[in-house]
Amino acid sequence: MTPTFEQRRYLIPFRVALLPQIFTEVLVIGSGVAGMRAALAAAGHSDVIVTAKGPLKASNTWWAQGGIAAVLPPELAGEDHRDSFESHIRDTIDAGGDLCDPHAVRRVVEAGPQAVRELIEVDMSLDRTGDPPHLALGREGGHSLARILHADGDATGKAMAGALNRAMRAHEKVRVFDECFVLDLITLEGATPQCVGAITHHPKYGLQVIWAAATILATGGCGQVYRESTNPRIATGDGLAMAYRAGAALADLAFMQFHPTTLYIAGASRSLITEAVRGEGGVLIDHNGYRFMADYHPQADLAPRDVVARAILTQMQRTNHSRVFLDCRHIGAERFAQRFPGIHQLLRKFEIDPGTTPIPIHPAAHYMIGGVHTDLDGRSTLKGLYAAGEVACTGLHGANRLASNSLLEGMVFGRAAGEVCREMHDAAHPGPVRVVSDIPISDRSELDLVDVRSSLRSVTWRHVGIERTGARLEEVLEMFDFWGRYTLDKIFDDRDGWEVQNMLTLGALITRSAHWRNESRGTHFRVDHPEPLDRYRRHDLWRRGQGEPETVDIPHEDAAPAG
Ligand SMILES: Cc1cc2nc3c(=O)[nH]c(=O)nc-3n(C[C@H](O)[C@H](O)[C@H](O)COP(=O)(O)OP(=O)(O)OC[C@H]3O[C@@H](n4cnc5c(N)ncnc54)[C@H](O)[C@@H]3O)c2cc1C
Repeated sequence: MTPTFEQRRYLIPFRVALLPQIFTEVLVIGSGVAGMRAALAAAGHSDVIVTAKGPLKASNTWWAQGGIAAVLPPELAGEDHRDSFESHIRDTIDAGGDLCDPHAVRRVVEAGPQAVRELIEVDMSLDRTGDPPHLALGREGGHSLARILHADGDATGKAMAGALNRAMRAHEKVRVFDECFVLDLITLEGATPQCVGAITHHPKYGLQVIWAAATILATGGCGQVYRESTNPRIATGDGLAMAYRAGAALADLAFMQFHPTTLYIAGASRSLITEAVRGEGGVLIDHNGYRFMADYHPQADLAPRDVVARAILTQMQRTNHSRVFLDCRHIGAERFAQRFPGIHQLLRKFEIDPGTTPIPIHPAAHYMIGGVHTDLDGRSTLKGLYAAGEVACTGLHGANRLASNSLLEGMVFGRAAGEVCREMHDAAHPGPVRVVSDIPISDRSELDLVDVRSSLRSVTWRHVGIERTGARLEEVLEMFDFWGRYTLDKIFDDRDGWEVQNMLTLGALITRSAHWRNESRGTHFRVDHPEPLDRYRRHDLWRRGQGEPETVDIPHEDAAPAG
C-alpha cells in the first residue's frame, strides 16, 4: 500500500469547533435493511439519527429480487413443509469454501423464523400460496430445498425496504436525514481509540458534525468498484473506506461475489436476473444452444454462484462470445410473467419475450463478502463503532455467500448491533472534543476524475474479477498507486470526488487481499494457484498503517463464540 492510502486520515480539512454540531445517542449510517433494523432496535433504548446518502430506493436492499432464506415452521410454511436449521447451516457452510465461522452461521440461521415474524409485524406483505394460504417458498442455487420467501414475485427488497422504512419513520425516537453523505468517522485518539460520531455533508446544510455515543455503520457494499455490477450507483464502498481510515480492521476483501446472470444488452445498465429463475427451471445455454452447466458441476444450473460464474466465463471464452443465454422458453411466457413480473417488464423494454427468446446474460460483481471485521454482536475492532449488513464481515458467508442469506443477515445483525450498542450509551461519553484535520494543498497536477473512476472500474473488472493472477494483481497495484498519488492527495468539495477517493482505497485493498491470498477458494479464483491451501484457511485483516495483514483462524464449532 502506498503512503497516500496510509497517510490520509480524513478526506477533508476541518476544525470541528467551526462546524454546526448535532448530538445523538446512536448514529446509524445507511438506511438499507441493516441500518433500518438497527435503528428500530436502538430506538428501544436511545435517541437515534439515521443518515443515508440517497433516497430509500438508492440501496442494494431496495433492488433485492429473489428473497430471504429462512427455515420456517409448518404454521408459517404449510403443514407439509419439512426444513431444518441443520440443513440450512449445512448448505451455508458447503457454499462457503471452508471459511465460514460456524457460530455466525448458526446464529443467523436459528434467528431466521424470528426475523420473518418481525417482518410480518412491520406489515411486509410476503407472497402466499395454498389453501389455507401459507408463505410461498422458492428454491435457489446451493439450497437443498425450497426455503426462499419472496414478495410481489421478484420485488422482495422493495417490499422489505418499504415496510421497515414506514416503521422506522413512525418511531418517535428516530430522526432520518436523507441525502446526508457521511465523509468520515470521527475518532478520539489515545491508548484505546474511540469512534465518537461522523462528519457529514448535506446539499442544503453543508458540513456538519454528528456526535454519537455509538455509531452503527450500515453502508452496504462496493459493487461500483467494478465496471460490471448489479449494484446501484451508491455502492461505492464509502463505509468500508471510512472505517479503514478510522483504524478499524477490514477482513476478507478478496471475496467479491460475482452474480452469474445479469441482463447483457450493449449500452444498457446491468440488471440482475435473479437466481430464482434457474430455481424455476431456467437453464444456461451457450451461443450454439448447448446446455453446458452439467459439464462443470453435478448440480448443473443450480450449482453455487462462483462455479456458475466461472463456467459462464469459460464457455464465453470457448465460444468466443461476450455472453451466454438463460433459456426459459419451456417455462412459458405466462408463468414467467406471473412469477417474475419485474423481470418480465424489464425484458419487454428490450423486446425480449422469455417464452420465445433466450435471455442474453453475463456475470457481474454483486456482493462484497468481506468487510468491517465484527464479532457476533456487530462490534468492530474500533471502540464505539458497530457494523451490520453487507458492510460487515461476520464470517457468515465464508468465501462464498449462499443465495438469499444477506437480507436475513442484515435483519439479524442489524438488530444485534442496535441492541448491544446500548453499552456505549451506558459508558461515559467524552462529549464534543476538539478535532482538527489539516491537509496540505497538493502541488501535483490533477487527473480527470471521470477518467479515474471509469479506468479503475475497468481494471478491477479485467484483472481483479472472476479470474485473477499474481502478476496482473501486481500491475493493478501499481496503477492504484499512481491514481492514488494524484487523487488521494487532493481536497474535493463534493461527493463525486469523495466517492472516487473511497473507490480507489477499496479497489487497492481488494487487490492487496487477492494478491496476498495465493490460493483459490470460494469466489476468489487465482489461475496461478487454482486449489485451496490449508495455510490460507483463515481471515486476512487489513488495518491502516500496517503493510501486511493480520490473520485470524476460523473458530472450531465447539469453541466458545467470540463477542
Ligand atoms: C440487484 C440485487 C439483488 C439482490 N437480491 C438479493 C436477494 O434476493 N436476497 C438477498 O438476501 N440478498 C440480495 N441482494 C443482496 C442484498 O440486497 C444486500 O446485500 C443487502 O440489501 C445489503 O443491505 P445493507 O443494509 O447492508 O446495505 P444497503 O441496502 O445497500 O444500504 C446501504 C445504505 O447506506 C447508505 N450509504 C452508503 N454510503 C453512504 C455514505 N457515505 N453516507 C451516508 N449513507 C451512505 C445508502 O444510501 C443506503 O441507504 C441483492 C443485491 C442486489 C444489488
